Amino acid sequence: MLAALRGMKAEGGWGVVCTEWCSIHPASDDLPHPNASLWNDDDIKDHALMTEAVHRHGALAGVELWIGGARTANLYTREVSMDVASMPNLAGHAYQSRAMDKSDIRELRRWHRNAALRAKAAGFDVVYVYATHGYLLSHFLSAETNTRGDEYGGSMENRARLLRELIEDTKDAVGDRCAVAVRYSVGGDDGEDPSLTNERRDRLEMLAELPDLWDININNYYQEMGVSRFIKEGSLEEHMSFVKSVTTKPVVTVGRFTSPDTMASQIKRGVVDFIGAARPSIADPFLPRKIEQGRLDDIRECIGCNICYTGDGLGVPIRCTQNPTMGEEWRRGWHPEFIAKKGSESSVLVVGAGPAGLEATRALGQRGYRVTLAEATRELGGRVTRESKLPGLSEWQRVRDYRLQQIDVMPNVEVFRESELSVDEVLAVEADHIVFATGATWRADGFGRSHLHPLTTLSPDARILTPDDVMAGHLPDGPTVIFDDDSFYMGGVIAEQVRRANVPVSVVTPENVVSAWCEYTSEQYQVQKHLLELGVEIKTAHSLLAYDGQAVTISCTHTGRQQSIKADVLIMVTARRPRDELYQDLNRRMESGVHTPFRSVRRIGDCEAPAIIAAAVHSGHRYARELDTEPDPDVPLRLE
Ligand code: ADP
Ligand code: SF4
Repeated sequence: MLAALRGMKAEGGWGVVCTEWCSIHPASDDLPHPNASLWNDDDIKDHALMTEAVHRHGALAGVELWIGGARTANLYTREVSMDVASMPNLAGHAYQSRAMDKSDIRELRRWHRNAALRAKAAGFDVVYVYATHGYLLSHFLSAETNTRGDEYGGSMENRARLLRELIEDTKDAVGDRCAVAVRYSVGGDDGEDPSLTNERRDRLEMLAELPDLWDININNYYQEMGVSRFIKEGSLEEHMSFVKSVTTKPVVTVGRFTSPDTMASQIKRGVVDFIGAARPSIADPFLPRKIEQGRLDDIRECIGCNICYTGDGLGVPIRCTQNPTMGEEWRRGWHPEFIAKKGSESSVLVVGAGPAGLEATRALGQRGYRVTLAEATRELGGRVTRESKLPGLSEWQRVRDYRLQQIDVMPNVEVFRESELSVDEVLAVEADHIVFATGATWRADGFGRSHLHPLTTLSPDARILTPDDVMAGHLPDGPTVIFDDDSFYMGGVIAEQVRRANVPVSVVTPENVVSAWCEYTSEQYQVQKHLLELGVEIKTAHSLLAYDGQAVTISCTHTGRQQSIKADVLIMVTARRPRDELYQDLNRRMESGVHTPFRSVRRIGDCEAPAIIAAAVHSGHRYARELDTEPDPDVPLRLE
């Protein structure tokens, strides 16, 4: 899967395509996070699949050799973690690292050298020494964590000794053919002592000419990997703009560059030599080709939602909101740019222009089908249009804009706005295939994860709203309780929206933190901080019991102890009900065997099963790909 994915980026024009963090030895294993490894010669052939795929398109392949130190508990291998000192596992596991002695350091150097040699044998062109992000080397570098009394501790020179040795070892081992790059942090976490930040700069100056390439970032992952809700494009520039002035070696950095203008500006102003990108290359593997060909309108810009990053914490393959083919290159054979021509002269009616309907329409149009898209409202985009008006989510409208831009120039696609179709109107279109992408509606009855039945303890006179109401502009004007049983972003952004109307807001969640699933998108910490700063009360580990219109009764999920919070309004962020009545009606007609004027009826996106936007886009794309094909109903994807 990864070889095909990375080959696709090379085909799309990226000059160098790198692996994820790649462990050099079983004493550095990050499972269940999906890291790569070069532990022995058997691993070479797997990596060679990737380097060959990348080289086939004229790009270079890079590998990020990595030693986790006290960030890894080695849950898979059960080897003891080693670091500059014995310190608690920094990922929260109940393990500590052992303090490395001189023989450990010698072993580490040997492992790193061997991994570099394997990398070269696998065909890599750029071999990294990874010295950032709170892993082993950054602990050796830092005066805070490195309190050793030997030649690897004490002065700045001593603390940088291991990094210097690893750079020199790697150059010695593979420098005849490979470039040696260093991933290095110029900024610390929030509140870092300025003297430590200054030392990062001095140390870079000291090592300035040693590697062949500097790959610069900052320690603070919340910023470097930040979601667009909190962090804007190119956000690393303020930290790293000095780097080019202290080294003659080429410099690359990331920062979720999405606009070609921002990229060009950083190059022209001499801030960097190369543009580094993870998310922009996920959302659009063909971004460089499109820039090269002047097809800027065809770029699928990243929206900064970090759904791609959730695979890291969940230990599952990558996915992307904007690019439904991400991760599907090999197992479903999906190419981000090309799609099979239509399999018949059929016409298709798509009902609903949310992310599912828009993507189905775009991809069906690309295949050459005659497509009619009907949307009930004047504005297209469904939930994406509505949600992008919530605080911090404006970039999400790119999901709609990219698709509309593509559909707009397709002569075989007709779009009808303000066309809320009934069953009879659907049939009157006389399409061969009908697909419902009619979305879902937030429930107000309390049904959700905590209560898999509607609550009977809600007063019929009470003012109960849902996110749909708030997005439609119905804001509370008195004290409000939000019951967030959904636990992703919606409860938090609704809380912010309501708080901006200057009313007291409490968020009640059965989880132990607010917006708990945002842990996977790397923003949970920022959400909680932000809500607290806005003055939102957060009540964790509590579930909703009742609401009489004046006070909400909640109970502790651990003890069952009850309490009440005065509230004029209760907002339910619990679950959604698929808007599938039209589908159910037509499906019944087909199932009953009576003659129907159409050949198939399907439901996609939230109408089928409410989920994240990425799932709706994927669902629409898959429908379009599979029309007039016969996928294996038992195992619909290739297995490794
Ligand atoms: P998804 O995420 O699955 O794409 P959305 O809720 O974003 O779902 O979009 C569903 C769209 O379908 C909305 O824009 C809604 O207005 C539209 N819609 C719902 N019912 C009808 C209907 N009967 N006719 C036309 N459009 C409809
Ligand atoms: Fe960007 Fe979201 Fe795709 Fe990640 S999932 S690349 S953040 S659009």
